[in-house]
Amino acid sequence: MSAPRVQLTDDEWRQKLTPEEFAVLRQAGTEPPFTGEYTDTKTEGVYECRACGAELFRSSEKFESHCGWPSFFDPADSDAVILRPDDSMGMRRVEVLCANCHSHLGHVFEGEGYPTPTDQRYCINSICLKLVPSS
Ligand SMILES: [Zn+2]
Repeated sequence: MSAPRVQLTDDEWRQKLTPEEFAVLRQAGTEPPFTGEYTDTKTEGVYECRACGAELFRSSEKFESHCGWPSFFDPADSDAVILRPDDSMGMRRVEVLCANCHSHLGHVFEGEGYPTPTDQRYCINSICLKLVPSS
């Protein structure tokens, strides 16, 4: 994994982010399900990384997964995110990171049978995203 383009120290991230944002984005936390502000959002627009502002996902790839977190079947661009094996918590999962600043975003699951073009579910914490509605 190459170095992120946006590189800050933990202290600098703490100044830029709220404690809740820091815990998820920089410490790979998870917001409780059904609490995030974008879980059921259908507004058209672009979802940016809340840490660095990079474009990550689009509303056109968002779908209703009923899992409690915003779910996308594809990133806006395959270069927008980095995928990394995550064996924490006794599970084999694939972590999703922002390619631009390497902040934690969530996990990606596949083969769950959702009727989407990719059969993948990018399960992303709302607190890692910032929706910019298209005008
Ligand atoms: Zn970022």
